[in-house]
Amino acid sequence: MGEIMVTPHGGLFEVRHALDEGRSSETLTTLVTPDGLRDHTRLTEGGEHRPVHTLRNLRRGWRAVLSAGDLQRAIHTLYPAVIEEGYAAHTHTLRATPWPTTARRQTGIYSKVQKATPEQVEHVAQEICGGCLKTRVWAGERLSQTFFGGVPGAIPCAEACTFLVAEIREEVAGKRGQAGGHSH
Ligand code: SF4
Repeated sequence: MGEIMVTPHGGLFEVRHALDEGRSSETLTTLVTPDGLRDHTRLTEGGEHRPVHTLRNLRRGWRAVLSAGDLQRAIHTLYPAVIEEGYAAHTHTLRATPWPTTARRQTGIYSKVQKATPEQVEHVAQEICGGCLKTRVWAGERLSQTFFGGVPGAIPCAEACTFLVAEIREEVAGKRGQAGGHSH
């Protein structure tokens, strides 16, 4: 699912980047706990922060060997709520939250996003979400399959994430794209 592959391995499970399929284990860094995996995948290969877990920039070069219980925790660490939401989409019970509802819920400095036009939301979302594995069900995009149906990258996005909300706020404030980049 997503960018990872999970393989049963002598009573344990091995997780690695799907693009590392077939690489000899000796050439990969071996991790043995969900926390170790979390720390190891916190940054991109280039050392940049990953603000959203499902951005398509999971670093390569590692393998995690885990028990069944730790596997669950590890998946949750790598892709929080993705199993739950993927399964809900697979069984047609996923409830998406449209942008106006998300915007209304914002408080404090983020309440400014309520002023965003649909065009601004779409413009920013195309840029940000374009690098994300998830499909924007909250914006009406259709997801006819999920990874439960055998399509690894088919992951629903039920609601705009905090990263996107923050970027839309920057857009409304006219600060996006300015020299120096983002404020987070
Ligand atoms: S809003 Fe959804 S699709 Fe867009 S970046 Fe956030 S998690 Fe990914």
